[in-house]
Formats: sequence, structure tokens, C-alpha cells
Amino acid sequence: MSDTMPQDQQDQQDQQHQQDRQKLESFDPATGDVVGVHAVDDAASVEAAVARARASAAWWAGIGFDARAEVLGQWRAVLTRRMAQLADVVHAETGKPHADAQLEIGLAIDHLAWIGAKAEKVLGRHRVSPGLLLANHSASVEYLPLGVVGVIGPWNYPVFTPMGSIAYALGAGNTVVFKPSELTPGVGVWLADSLREVVPGQHLLQTVIGWGETGTALCRADIDKLAFTGSTATGKKVMATCAENLTPVVIEAGGKDALIVDEDADLDAAAEAAAWGAFSNAGQTCIGVERVYVHEKVADDFIGRLSERARAVHAGVDAEAKLGPMTMSSQLEVVRSHVDDAIARGGRAVVGGPESVDDRFAQPVVLVDVPEDSLAVTEETFGPTVVVNRVGCMDEAVEKANAGKYGLGGAVFSGRRGAEIARQLRSGMTSVNAVIAFAAVPSLPFGGVGDSGFGRIHGADGLKEFTYAKAVTRQRMKPVLNLTTFERTEEQDTLFATMLTALHGRASQIGKRPLRERVAAVREKRRG
Ligand code: NDP
Repeated sequence: MSDTMPQDQQDQQDQQHQQDRQKLESFDPATGDVVGVHAVDDAASVEAAVARARASAAWWAGIGFDARAEVLGQWRAVLTRRMAQLADVVHAETGKPHADAQLEIGLAIDHLAWIGAKAEKVLGRHRVSPGLLLANHSASVEYLPLGVVGVIGPWNYPVFTPMGSIAYALGAGNTVVFKPSELTPGVGVWLADSLREVVPGQHLLQTVIGWGETGTALCRADIDKLAFTGSTATGKKVMATCAENLTPVVIEAGGKDALIVDEDADLDAAAEAAAWGAFSNAGQTCIGVERVYVHEKVADDFIGRLSERARAVHAGVDAEAKLGPMTMSSQLEVVRSHVDDAIARGGRAVVGGPESVDDRFAQPVVLVDVPEDSLAVTEETFGPTVVVNRVGCMDEAVEKANAGKYGLGGAVFSGRRGAEIARQLRSGMTSVNAVIAFAAVPSLPFGGVGDSGFGRIHGADGLKEFTYAKAVTRQRMKPVLNLTTFERTEEQDTLFATMLTALHGRASQIGKRPLRERVAAVREKRRG
């Protein structure tokens, strides 16, 4: 306390300070203007939100698939009717063009429709064969909701990305507590409010606001699973915190996706896809194209076509700008350092260069012939830059694409060998002759390997991710051979051994073929 200030004035100032600390402002990254002010949730209010979610979880799980589909359908209709309004909030907090905001909202709506239509088919109880040994039983499996799911999301696609967890967790019968990025709290609040309008009396989706501490509090709260999307470094922290209570996690982390261009590829299509994949959303896309490996026979031609497209787009706030500002200003320094490092190591910038990065915007940069150990090749840049390196053959392209620590998505452009090359890429998802197409197919799982994380959102796998499998057997008639009794006789044991020998004791015809021949046959089949 200062010597001169009266106590009540000091108290007032402390109280004001406390109130100030408990507010989180979101900004328009193009101008720095404040676009929203939100009260921060501390550990106690996160726990209270989780308790409310818990109270609604039994109701939501109990109403069944049809009623849940009805609710999700109504929510989908609200999102669709108010798409422009939500896109305004996304635009204000991320700076991305309104049309791009609409695109990500549209994709999330399409996923919601799939969930409503398919959840029961994927998760509902179904019979399975009990097998010969337990032929006197019936057997069934169903996938039951976990309870309350915590979702922590990033800012780059503040609707589409977290909805990959939120909508699938809800569709599987869980309630959700969502912590949006500190940069996009308004989007999170808008989403939760819109679902509350459809189901006013229940806490199906709540938003908790704050920085990393709020996320940590959500990890420590009484949740049944945590779905995290964000950087690999934060993913590790989230996993460590969740481990304290053995809370399971899904980690959707960063990427360094490669696009491969074969000598017989449609070069215009490949250049268009590379430009969109690398520069759209100002390069702030986890499944964006950050590297291209192009066959040396067509490399110059491809680089020319890509450069033309790179020069045709720019970042800004004018009506012609196809790219917005960098949402998180600290990323600008990362982008600049990767470009500097690539050039210092002998790479060439054929479009843009270090001067393309200012204090709010980054313009497209095309780097060629960049050493494979450069930061621009090994680390996630998350800006509108792309590295194009030449390869002598597709095996070399695959080897280089697979060399990094990430394994999220990727793309292949090839006339004849697209599917074959795609299957060799060590990543969760690959598009052939297109870019990021897999994200827009609701029935396909989305997720990565290695430093890109584990677990899946989207599709049947994404629904199952937020459930536990419940297996039930029912004895229908007395067994011919009762194996689970202490009254089992020696004769019965002999009969059991005879049955097993008959079932599993003889090698099948294919089993008799030498291993070498079988491997060769599988390879041949894959090539075909
Ligand atoms: P961050 O890892 O910085 O943050 C992600 C979220 O975690 C934010 O809500 C953040 O809150 C929160 N958080 C931060 N610290 C903690 C903590 N200690 N405990 C719990 N939560 C915490 O990622 P960005 O928001 O910068 O997003 C960009 C990253 O996301 C990129 O690496 C990108 O590749 C990846 N990403 C991955 C996707 C995928 O599906 N695989 C999709 C989209 C993006 P706060 O913002 O308040 O710090």
C-alpha cells in the first residue's frame, strides 16, 4: 500500500484490479480493436460448470438417439439460419475473410447432419457372433456415453475444429464443457448460447473462458474425457495434467503436411491445390500444405504455375484481400525466422521473402530448394509460406514426406499412382488429386500420428472416441460342454482339447505357402 493513499481508496483500487484481472478481452487482429470482453472462469467456476454438465448428462444420455438427433437437427437449423451472424464473430476475432468463416461453419453444419443420421447405426446395440465355443450364448455390443467431455480448442478454425469434438461428443450422448482459445472466446460463447436456445433447461454445452490456467482447471475437473486441439507442446502439458486423474485424452496437434507431385500429375490442379493449401487462412491451418515434393522433370513448370498463383493473392483488409491478418501476432516472428533460416541455408525465395512479414500481416512466400534440415522443413510454420523441393522419384518423395516428426494429413497429385503413394504416407489422412478433402467427408476419421497426436474425431471412429464399448453375453441354453464349473470332468477336458484341435490345429492352405510368396502376393495386389 502506498504511504499516502487512504485504506478505502486502496481497497477500491485492489478490488478494481481484481475485476480487471478477471476480464479477458478479445481483439480484431487486423486493427487491435477490442471486440469482446469476457469474465474469466477460475478453477471453482470450471468445476461448477462441470457439475452442471454432470447433472444434465443422465438426461441427455437417457433420451436416446432419435430425440438427440432431433435436438442436434434443430441446432443445425439455428446455425444455418444465423451463419452470417456467427461468421461476423469469427471474422472479428480471427480476421479471416467473412467467406472463409462461412466455409468452416458450413462444414461443421454438414458434420452435424451426419452425426444425427448415423449415431445410432454406429453406436447402437448390435449382435455379434458368439463363436463356436460359446454357441449357446447370444452376444451384443453397444457404445455408451462417457458422461462429461471437456473440449479445449484453438483459434485458427474456431468453429470447425472444436465442433469436431463438441458435436461428436454430444452425438454420442455426452454433455460438453468447452474452453475456447483466449483469442476466440466470443465464438465459443456464441456456440453455447445457440444450443441453449434449443434446449433451455439443460446444460448440454457450456463455455468456460480464460487462458491456459482455465484449460488446466478443465483438465483437473471431474470430466470423463478431454479432447484437445492445439499445438503439440500444449498437448503434452494437457496430457500430463489429465494423467493426474487418469482422464483419457484425444490429442489433435500440429502438422507439417506435404503435397507430392508426380511427373504425370495435372500441374495446374496441383499448383492450385498447393496455393490454396499453403496460403488460405493465411497459412494458419493444421492440415495446410507446408512442403511440396515435386518430380524434377516437372519441377520448374510446377514452380512457375504455383508462383503465378502466389502473386495473385495478398493479405490485407481491402475488398480484394483473400487473406486476413495473422490471428496470433507472436506467430509472425516464427514465420519470419523460418524464411530467414531457409534462405541462410541456401534456399531461394521465388515469391516474397523476409520482407513479406510485417507486424500484422504475412504475404505469400514460395521457397525452393530448401535443405531438409531447415526450420521451414522440420517445424510447423503456421503462416502463408511453402517450401518446394525437387525429388528424383516418388520413393524419394515418400521418404522425405515421412521423415518428419508430424503425421497429420497430406496430398498426392499423380496420374496413375495416386492411391498407391497415398497409402505409403505416414499420416492420418491423405487426399489424392485434391487438398484437405478428407476433412469435409463426415464419414472419415480425422487425426494424426506421431507429434500430430492420437485418437480420432469425425466419422464412426470420432463418435466411438467419446464412448466406452459395452459387451454383453446372454446364455440362451445349457452348454453341451460346461467349461466354467469345478465339476468339469477329465472326459470333458479331453473333448475340449479335441474340439480345439479340430477348429485351430490344422494350417490352412494359405498358411502352407512360404511367407516370401505371401508377401509378394500382397505387394502385387497393392500395386494393381
Ligand atoms: P495452443 O496449443 O497454444 O492452445 C490450444 C488451447 O489450449 C487453447 O485454448 C489454449 O488456451 C489452451 N491451453 C494453453 N495452455 C494450456 C494448458 N497448460 N493446459 C490446458 N490448456 C491450455 O494452440 P493454438 O491455439 O495456438 O492453435 C494452433 C495449433 O493448433 C497449431 O499447432 C495447429 O497445428 C493446431 N491445430 C491442430 C488441429 C488438428 O486437428 N490436429 C486443428 C487446428 C489446429 P489459450 O489460448 O488461452 O492459451
